[in-house]
Amino acid sequence: MSDGHERVTYSDVHKLIGKAAERIIQSNFKPDLIIAIGGGGFFPARVMRTFLKDPSTKRNIPILAIGLSLYESLPGTTEEQLGKAVVRTQWLGPSKELLGRKALIIDEVDDSRTTLEYAVKELQKDMELELAKLDENEREGQRTKFGVFVVHNKRKPKAGTLPPDIPYFAGAEVDDVWLDYPWEMKDIDEHDRLAALAKEAPPIPQ
Ligand code: 5GP
Repeated sequence: MSDGHERVTYSDVHKLIGKAAERIIQSNFKPDLIIAIGGGGFFPARVMRTFLKDPSTKRNIPILAIGLSLYESLPGTTEEQLGKAVVRTQWLGPSKELLGRKALIIDEVDDSRTTLEYAVKELQKDMELELAKLDENEREGQRTKFGVFVVHNKRKPKAGTLPPDIPYFAGAEVDDVWLDYPWEMKDIDEHDRLAALAKEAPPIPQ
């Protein structure tokens, strides 16, 4: 019997990222910086770096981390903010690091899109502030090109929006179900066992 949770294994995540990386490499958008949205984006970001590594230069793409929280109750979060407002738990150091980069923003799942909208807007704001510090003749080519990668995109009406010119990649498009990720589990063997069982189960007749 399904309990309404879809269990995703480390191996599932790894393979989805590998396939998406091929699409990213073939696109015109070749990231030279990764911005991981924590906590869920950390593991995917590290795996993506493995797949995006250029075999000719062998150079690792740097990963910067930001922490955003939507569902967690943090000290000072009001009842109304829960689930709607995005709270920063960690942010970039000097945003000068963004300039001239192709930055791939990574999270594990795009649900309501609220978090991604916030991340893109705020990073763009930071970039604009840094650009404004430069002389006009120094700004050429310094505008950061942002892209987004999520392991799963839920097919559902989104509360948040992303600028249309931003490349968007998803490992998989999924129904609006609750996904259980392996890094959230204490008993990984039980998680993997239930994930394997679900894969064996015949599809539920519609
Ligand atoms: P959004 O802002 O797109 O609604 O949600 C972003 C965050 O909500 C994700 O980074 C994740 O932490 C959490 N979230 C949304 N849907 C799921 C889900 O199906 N499974 C898990 N584990 N977290 C989710």
